[in-house]
Amino acid sequence: MSGLTFFSKVPALKKWIPLFLVLLFFSLWFPWNNRDSGSVHSSTQLAMGTLVTISTWGTGDVDEGKKVARIFERIRQVEAIASRQDANSPVYRINHSPQTKHVAPPEALVTIIEKGLEIRQQSQGAFDPGLASLLDLWGFTHGVPEKGALPEQNDLSAWLEKRNQFPEYGIHLNKDPNGTVTLHLDGDVFALDLGAIAKGYALDQAMATMKQSGIQDGLIIGGGDMIIAGSKGGKPWRIGIQHPRDRDKVMAQVEVMGDMALATSGDYERFFMVNGERQHHILDSKTGKPSRSGLISVSIQAKEAMVADALSTAVFVLGMEKGKALIEQLDGVEGMLVQENGERWKSPQFKGQWLDEQKND
Ligand code: AMP
Ligand code: MG
Repeated sequence: MSGLTFFSKVPALKKWIPLFLVLLFFSLWFPWNNRDSGSVHSSTQLAMGTLVTISTWGTGDVDEGKKVARIFERIRQVEAIASRQDANSPVYRINHSPQTKHVAPPEALVTIIEKGLEIRQQSQGAFDPGLASLLDLWGFTHGVPEKGALPEQNDLSAWLEKRNQFPEYGIHLNKDPNGTVTLHLDGDVFALDLGAIAKGYALDQAMATMKQSGIQDGLIIGGGDMIIAGSKGGKPWRIGIQHPRDRDKVMAQVEVMGDMALATSGDYERFFMVNGERQHHILDSKTGKPSRSGLISVSIQAKEAMVADALSTAVFVLGMEKGKALIEQLDGVEGMLVQENGERWKSPQFKGQWLDEQKND
């Protein structure tokens, strides 16, 4: 069975095929001119609920294969810590005994939650790593709900009411002077969902593992997130950003040499329709509902994939004006934003071009 036949037989993976093909097409574009010095070797596996592709520039020998296997292993280690579905994960344990003081949570989890709380604060709650119970009300626990239906209004109101009882945000991460770290969540309303940040952290770790192994040129893609290093035999890596309303179309193209992370959040990734209205997986904790900021696609460029990942979600919820302001305020952060009404914006240093503009260059 070919790889693609396998993907098409697994329903959860079907939706990723167009994006996967687009990214693969772009990632394989350049090496044909550089066959003498090396070529791109790509390998794709299912991890973190999505397809992860590791592409490296090199000779493709056995040693390179072993290094790539170790990179996938590192991604799975992070997944095992941050997954809220896996009953053995620390996040699962924390969510199922929220008011317990959890002493010395894994270092990776502390890093992710710390950054998540920082971005929560910077985005005035638009990014919120504590929305697991609200996501469950909407059915966004695993993938897209089979038979999507709106949650009961009573349940949403009860959730909002409980949340409002904690004006001091209810996820507490404390570091004692003696170095002991503790974590606890208030009430039964706060539960961790790191779906908008942990994948980014996993990609950062994957890239660190890649570089430690001696591979300096590579591209790692997981769902809408990616991290890039070096070049493709002296030429830039080229990446396509999916059109938010046409699965088979590329909206913009990014060309990069050197270290960079890029993450895209969109309302087309996981959604169901009710009465013609798109109910998607990025929720606004102020309304308890899918975000209706007007934005439908947000790409963020940053040094770390963890930051790009969380900020793409934050800006998506903030909307065009506040989102732009946040991007402009943060060092080393660039963005590309698209609204439902067709209005779009990209910051001056964003390393990508709209494809329709490129034709006129
Ligand atoms: P992304 O595709 O990176 O934007 O992440 C979306 C995922 O993050 C969702 O599937 C949820 O697991 C989680 N999520 C949804 N809404 C939010 C939010 N406002 N803040 C943080 N995480 C969220
Ligand atoms: Mg994100």
